[in-house]
Amino acid sequence: LEPSYQFMLRVVAPGGVSTPAQWLVIDELADKYGSGSIRVTTRQAFQLHGILKWNLKETIKSINESLLTTLAACGDVNRNVMCNPNPYESEVHAEVIHWSNEITKHLAPRTPAYHEIWLDGEKVVDSSEIVNAVEGVDPVEPIYGPVYLPRKFKIGIAVPPSNDVDVFSQDLGYIAIVEKGKLVGFNVAVGGGMGMTHGDNNTYPQLARVIGFIKPEQVLQTSEKIVTIQRDYGNRSVRKYARMKYTIDRHGLDWFVAELQERLGWELEPAREYSFESTGDRYGWTKNKNGRWNLTLFVNSGRIADQDGYLLKTAIREVAKIHTGDFRLTANQNLMIANMTAAGKKKIEAILQQYGITDGSHLSALRRSSISCVALPTCGLAMAEAERYLPTLVDKLEPILEEVGLRETDINIRMTGCPNGCGRPALGEISFIGKSPGKYNMYMGAGFSGDRLSKLFRENIGEDDILDTLTPIIKHYAADREQGEHFGDFVVRTGYVKPVYNGLEFHS
Ligand code: SF4
Repeated sequence: LEPSYQFMLRVVAPGGVSTPAQWLVIDELADKYGSGSIRVTTRQAFQLHGILKWNLKETIKSINESLLTTLAACGDVNRNVMCNPNPYESEVHAEVIHWSNEITKHLAPRTPAYHEIWLDGEKVVDSSEIVNAVEGVDPVEPIYGPVYLPRKFKIGIAVPPSNDVDVFSQDLGYIAIVEKGKLVGFNVAVGGGMGMTHGDNNTYPQLARVIGFIKPEQVLQTSEKIVTIQRDYGNRSVRKYARMKYTIDRHGLDWFVAELQERLGWELEPAREYSFESTGDRYGWTKNKNGRWNLTLFVNSGRIADQDGYLLKTAIREVAKIHTGDFRLTANQNLMIANMTAAGKKKIEAILQQYGITDGSHLSALRRSSISCVALPTCGLAMAEAERYLPTLVDKLEPILEEVGLRETDINIRMTGCPNGCGRPALGEISFIGKSPGKYNMYMGAGFSGDRLSKLFRENIGEDDILDTLTPIIKHYAADREQGEHFGDFVVRTGYVKPVYNGLEFHS
């Protein structure tokens, strides 16, 4: 008799986009085969937890029939391409999400094995639009080669001034450059990554570095060549040193640029001016250029569930039944109900009101700016709680913030259950990385717009120490901050932590 092995399934959604019909499939699968909830990840993908081994095939088949896929959502290939979630905000946003789809297709694995194993050899014709750039399924991998990449590969596209995708955390980040209202190309940033290993200072989070500018039509070739450099030079002996950040830091950025330009056969242009303001989401209602409406809802730790009397999952299911637009998962684990007509808006507002669903604007700014990874009990790598604990910690920090008048001040707070960094903790102004149950390393000082890493401030501390440590710093910030100064900038300026702009200095 086989034990009830259970699995997590991750579903690709480039730019976090899904249709109402696809939402309903995910919703049903979560109930039928999963743990009953849907997890929005920090890479704008869906996660379903608790899928029993004998239900895996049926679940994956249903996902593919809905024209979504789990192919390349995990593994040592290019993962879900991140992008600002709203293509209707401007023509530039529409172009950018187009390129995130094109990159996804171009870098999708061509292997027929996925279809043979999970879909009885059948390939759902329309899903080739999502996962394959070529006709048919080629048994050869022209980009990845026979042994794929040494490690996962992450790409994100940011549209300034929003850095919601944390573009500097990506192996390959593109920064949209807009001139006279038109997308003229992208700055290319390489070698970011959040993961590290406790106790091994040869591992560290790193920021992607901007190496130049390319035109939109050069994006696919550039992406492919960068992936092939990592394929050929990434460390295949020691997995924890395999990400592209280590490849670049080992060989040098100049070497990387020269290698890239040789493979491209042309040179990158000098990087162009850009400026980021924040990494957060804009909650509430926004109106698109096309006159339609979007509503961004705060989702606590990205968990779409019916819990504690807050029937979010049921409400969104009812919305999906009548919605004519689409859904968009944000990189901050939130949900946008997008592209509503005026009539649709009224009906959807009524549904949300019926279930008491809010956009989160009544919550503290700290809670609205919080990100946590799944961690315990679902993630096998977790050393401590994150998703189930961060809201409690925020409960305890809120009165302190309220007392000193900081309830409405955005401070990015992030928590992960281990140093793999799925919640991008090294880019939190305050962050916690689990060490053991109830104990965390505490970091501070990341840039509010995602351009500076945090720095270790206290090691292996529990809740009492966290509150004792943070309370005076929060009070100091409230009393002595400069006009508009963000928390991360303050703790650097006042000497609590040193600024870290290069991961090589993260541990020093
Ligand atoms: Fe990722 Fe670690 Fe969190 Fe698991 S515990 S979700 S591996 S950061």
